[in-house]
Amino acid sequence: MTPDPASFDAAKSYRERALKTLSYGVSSTPRGRQQPAPIVADRAAGAHIWDRTGSRFIDYAAGYGPLILGHSPSCVIDAVKAELDRGLRTASVHEGEATLAELVCETLPAAQKCAFVSSGSEAIQLALRIARAATGRTKVVKFRGNYHGWMDGVHVAGAPGNDGPGTIGQDPGAAASLTILDWGDTNALAETLNSDYAAVILEPVAVNGGCFAPPNGFLAEARRLTKQHGAVLIFDEVITGYRLALGGAQAVHGVTPDMAVIGKAMGGGLPIGAVVGSDAVMEPVSSGRLLHRGTFNGNPVSIAAAIACISHLMEHAPTLYPYIDGLAAQLETGLRDAAARNGTVCTVNRTGSAVQLALGVAEMRGLADTARADFPATARFAGHLLREGVQIIGRGLTYTTAAHDAGDIAETITAYDAAFKAMADEGG
Ligand code: PMP
Repeated sequence: MTPDPASFDAAKSYRERALKTLSYGVSSTPRGRQQPAPIVADRAAGAHIWDRTGSRFIDYAAGYGPLILGHSPSCVIDAVKAELDRGLRTASVHEGEATLAELVCETLPAAQKCAFVSSGSEAIQLALRIARAATGRTKVVKFRGNYHGWMDGVHVAGAPGNDGPGTIGQDPGAAASLTILDWGDTNALAETLNSDYAAVILEPVAVNGGCFAPPNGFLAEARRLTKQHGAVLIFDEVITGYRLALGGAQAVHGVTPDMAVIGKAMGGGLPIGAVVGSDAVMEPVSSGRLLHRGTFNGNPVSIAAAIACISHLMEHAPTLYPYIDGLAAQLETGLRDAAARNGTVCTVNRTGSAVQLALGVAEMRGLADTARADFPATARFAGHLLREGVQIIGRGLTYTTAAHDAGDIAETITAYDAAFKAMADEGG
């Protein structure tokens, strides 16, 4: 069922109102770039979002990743409601904190100790601080195309072809201790690492940048080299943690880092992030020597949601992960076939339940290919899909959730054809 075009008129008029008082009309810049206009979510349930005109959208943005169980999983909603009934208790010490830490340590191979914060970006900041404290060193290796949140110290070299800051206004000095290498380049890592390096941070599966699985041997070699040089190996599993598998990419690829950063899917939709690691590497923070601060850290509502979400994932993992990956595989094939039927050149990459579409390139195996992709056209395609009632992330990323079903997939594949045709009609 395609949305009423009045939906987009309503979205545009909301945007005009919001722009008068709200910076860029949104609370995170990429949301404001949605074409033809950012839809204004009125309510959501399962795999669907409704706007105020009553139009329904099948949602594969999935909260930019967190909504692995969909928009209204009863386990999370019930846990949050029960928590609210007990009073907010913000910034209190409460039992849920240890319960969640126990669940995380049970599920993630790298986790012997956890420290909670409220977002992935904060968790990265804390992880690097712990790594520097644990080693007494400063330098850090970061890989091109990997995104580690928006803090000045890491928000560089995130987009292909740009090793500089991710946005205007950043302090260039904050990232001065980073060495930027090509993701997957083990030779460069071997040549670079020495006793000055506190850490090597990487996305073990590069979802940002193109949805790439790690090249053969890359993670194992990063593990070996960091051990050899006494640097902390940090996996940024903000996307892959609890989405790729219960144990994250570290379990799937059989390489256990010293430290991992998680967020997004662990909270089932509520704001949370965490740094986890071995007892040894977490010592500075677990002993209280390193200051780990934050008014909203460990807030009981987010903790309750995360306990509910992870408990559900633990119970259903053997069927849930194959299910969401299977849906994503159907979308991957559906996208490729629809593009071929319409004569559109594009690449579709998939890692687990994440599917990346990039128009204008026949294959995308690494960041050099990503740099050649036509992302403005990909965003226009996402706009046409939205007109057909299907929401993906504008840079071409789709996440499946446990709430999507066969009907959603069939409707989506029909929408792919219509969107490719609309692209062809407007001249590519
Ligand atoms: N790391 C990765 C790999 C991410 O994809 C993101 C967010 N997309 C972050 C860190 C930052 O997380 P947050 O947006 O919760 O601050």
